[in-house]
Amino acid sequence: MKYLMLCVVVLWGGVQVEGAVFKAGFAERDITPDIGMEEPGGYGKVYHRKFHDPCKVRAAVFDDGKERVALVGIDILFITRHLTKETRVEIQKRCGIKAENILVGASHSHSSGPIGMSEPGDFDNASPLVKDLYLNKSTASDPGYTQLLKKQIVEAVVAADVARVDAKAAMGYGHEDKVSFNRRLRMKGGLTFSHPGAGNPDVIGYAGPIDPQVGVVGVWDLKDNLLGVIVNFSCHATASPGGISANWPGTMEHTLRGASGNAALPVVFLQGACGDITQVDNLAKFQNPAPEEWWQIVGGRLGAEAYKTLLLIRRGATNDIPIDVRGKTWNIKRRLPTQEKVKRALEMVQNAATRDNQTEWTFAKETVLLDAMARARPEVEVEVQAIQVGPAVFVSNPAEYFVQYGLDIKKASKFPFTFVVELANGCTGYVPTEEAFGPNGGGYETRLTSYSNLEISAGRQFKEAGIELANQMTPGPVPRPPPALPFRAAWSYGNLPPELK
Ligand SMILES: [Zn+2]
Repeated sequence: MKYLMLCVVVLWGGVQVEGAVFKAGFAERDITPDIGMEEPGGYGKVYHRKFHDPCKVRAAVFDDGKERVALVGIDILFITRHLTKETRVEIQKRCGIKAENILVGASHSHSSGPIGMSEPGDFDNASPLVKDLYLNKSTASDPGYTQLLKKQIVEAVVAADVARVDAKAAMGYGHEDKVSFNRRLRMKGGLTFSHPGAGNPDVIGYAGPIDPQVGVVGVWDLKDNLLGVIVNFSCHATASPGGISANWPGTMEHTLRGASGNAALPVVFLQGACGDITQVDNLAKFQNPAPEEWWQIVGGRLGAEAYKTLLLIRRGATNDIPIDVRGKTWNIKRRLPTQEKVKRALEMVQNAATRDNQTEWTFAKETVLLDAMARARPEVEVEVQAIQVGPAVFVSNPAEYFVQYGLDIKKASKFPFTFVVELANGCTGYVPTEEAFGPNGGGYETRLTSYSNLEISAGRQFKEAGIELANQMTPGPVPRPPPALPFRAAWSYGNLPPELK
């Protein structure tokens, strides 16, 4: 019935379209944490002491008359599987968008609200010592904040759904190669280290690539007012300006708002495969910018590049932007520490004197926590999603995903625009390439912790699933301007040899 009414409205409006009309809506909600809440991003406890800029949930809802999808970007370090499922159920109940048609992606902001990586039940049967290590010595969720997060994600999607209007959409790639760097470097000893430090004489070179593509989706109403933008780029949101902050996606939004002249422009950011990518250049010849400056550089340049991309791309016909969705959910085993390693770690965490070596103590604590979590949950539920919007596909996974896999997915996808989205619909920690676990591998991301512990084929499994799901769908047409007119005559002022006298 609703579909029929849409067609009638379109015909009354005199627009020459057949079939269903593409509709889009955007909305945002505030999720700024309170001062005093935990600031996640490390393995211990850090608390917010000041406010810098707001954190938000931003949602886009697209509708081709047959299928409705929601793409949600959140200024948060990551989102848990449990919270994803809860919000999806609630969204479906409130506005009818199917749970599996909702992508919830974290920006990976390292200056955002509290969230802990455990799922309900992980520590129910753990010893008092392990419970204490998790609750009091690790980053933990704040129940009040978790409720706010859930409420605002749902409200943002419901509001975006209500805001849907007839729309045009266009996709493009910008290029930015000066703000992101591979943080893993090959060392003379044969291994690969994360952040070995600028000027380190043992560094041979970067161990992996970056992805300079800036994925952009622009959406306009039928009067060509820009309704909202989606941006996809691979870089850790660690350009923390000091205090509570959306991190560089905030300056990116600020820049796009300034350039477009729309001070309320919704900018949904979906993080690309950035497991080994940050704004830090370990081969830098000069000192790094101050935090506030860095925050402006990364987000400012990406916002400007996204706007440049929007200016050049063509807007599609409103009846030719097909939406489709594929998904796959399965379990992946964890890598487990040996019982000998667990025993040594237990001795260390109980011995206060060894806390002098904070790094060793922290990773011993992580070993103990992983051992407990693996008893409760030896396998981790993972989901890969492919959401088509016209000629573009968003391919998601729940990992901090190495950029090489993102590049591989883009290459193998038959879509003209492929946007890889990491830390979506759950969180499985770092998922490196299998090469990084080999004899020349190593580094921070390959460390076995309660956060990062999937078996080494996980990255390949995500890649293969993503490619397979994307390629099951048929890309919509890429909007083009009308073809050039046939040649008639050269410009009569300009068709002559050099005139010297
Ligand atoms: Zn990270």
